[in-house]
Amino acid sequence: MKSHDIANRWVEFFASKHHTPVPSASLVSSDPSLLFTVAGMVPFIPYLTAREVPPFKRATSVQKCIRTGDIDEVGKTVRHGTFFQMCGNFSFGDYFKETAIPYAWELLTSSLDDGGYGLPAERLWVTVYTEDDEAYGIWRDKVGVPADRIQRIGKEDNYWSTGQPGPAGPCSEIFYDRGAEYGIDGGPIADETRYIEIWNLVFMQYQIDNVTSKVDFDVVGELPNKNIDTGLGLERLAMILQGVENMYETDQVRPVLDKAAEISGKKYTSTEDPADPHHTDDVRMRVVADHIRSSLMLISDGVTPSNEGRGYVLRRLIRRAVRAMRLLGVETAVLPELLPVSRDAMKGAYPEVETDFARIARIAYAEEKSFLRTIASGTARLEEAVKVSKAANHPLSGEEAFALHDTYGFPIDLTLEMAGEAGLAVDEAGFRTLMLEQRDRARKDAKSKKSGHADLTVFHELHAQGETVFTGYTELEGEGRIR
Ligand code: ATP
Ligand code: MG
Ligand code: MG
Ligand code: MG
Repeated sequence: MKSHDIANRWVEFFASKHHTPVPSASLVSSDPSLLFTVAGMVPFIPYLTAREVPPFKRATSVQKCIRTGDIDEVGKTVRHGTFFQMCGNFSFGDYFKETAIPYAWELLTSSLDDGGYGLPAERLWVTVYTEDDEAYGIWRDKVGVPADRIQRIGKEDNYWSTGQPGPAGPCSEIFYDRGAEYGIDGGPIADETRYIEIWNLVFMQYQIDNVTSKVDFDVVGELPNKNIDTGLGLERLAMILQGVENMYETDQVRPVLDKAAEISGKKYTSTEDPADPHHTDDVRMRVVADHIRSSLMLISDGVTPSNEGRGYVLRRLIRRAVRAMRLLGVETAVLPELLPVSRDAMKGAYPEVETDFARIARIAYAEEKSFLRTIASGTARLEEAVKVSKAANHPLSGEEAFALHDTYGFPIDLTLEMAGEAGLAVDEAGFRTLMLEQRDRARKDAKSKKSGHADLTVFHELHAQGETVFTGYTELEGEGRIR
């Protein structure tokens, strides 16, 4: 089943259960505290927190999401994309656990002919929050999942809150067992690679207060209106239904991976084993496929490359994809070859990536060009510095890394990677200190100057903050904030 059909089947199923289909919101989050839409529930936050009265009691969507916090997992795990689509069903003070759990089971296990996804029941495992006897009972007694495939786990994984006083509640997750050849027995608590998390059901039922951490808070009451918020990863279900090894091999992503293999002349082998000699190149191709698609979708939603915030995330995705292709041996511009392939894989579900492609391509190709210029001008200097440092048996100094950044716009991650390839460490702490000093200088300067004329310190300041801004937002989007 194609990804687009999986999405349509989702919406049809929940529409038949009286949910209002709601189109995906933009990747650029409507919630000011979030950089991107990181989950299907984000557009519904005003309803879930009872700040606004929802126009419907039940809704369903297939929401575009970006999670930059997962960027380092991409290609290494089988299941993390920076862009992915979260299928959701939502109840705003309407049905609760006793209905949400059987819905999930019905959709996953009903036959294809009956409108379901036809997953074999014996492959499915579930987890519930340790103290949620109610959810446990529904799974065991109402749905009929054998007790030995229901696992109880703690707050770390199975409790949702915003990290603030307000609504919160236990979760229940559904996992698919890929089989003994993928890992050890024992269910999701034993092995999260063999048992793939596909669906998270959140039961918002309590009011919490005195929150000191994600797991330390007081439950101060029941919510008058209990909500259901669920999220299933479309790519994860697609990988199962399409019988492929990971999410990068599903129909909306694989064509880019194949193109990367074609133009680099490398063979893609699907390996998950870090000890396999093909693993490094396989990961690079998966990273390329993921990042190209994320870039396409971000530009489509109005993001443009810059040195801060959303634009910096986009810049970093494009640069990482270009870098990965260089490590695969391709030094010419690759986006003009890869981006149209991603467009063709995504246009069925998102026609705007085709109708708006001229604009998207112009922005993406210009960014690659400027990055290639940066690489060209900085590489000679970096190579020289590497040679000198190696001869002196020193790591590459913080001063040198800073000069590369300041003069050539050479990002520190590139310096780290290229020095690393030459077997040389970098004094990253020294680099960071110099960056902070520069920022403080720029701030003092800005304060002591009267405005009214072009003030370049602002530019320098943004520039200097580039890397730290990114980290900050990564944390912001971490698991604590949303689900
Ligand atoms: P994991 O533990 O695998 O990182 P999660 O618990 O962080 O997943 P949730 O926040 O519960 O994920 O999101 C709901 C669903 O969205 C998940 O069950 C999964 O199917 C999907 N999902 C989450 N993150 C990603 C991602 N980076 N790429 C693809 N799908 C994802
Ligand atoms: Mg999880
Ligand atoms: Mg989860
Ligand atoms: Mg996660």
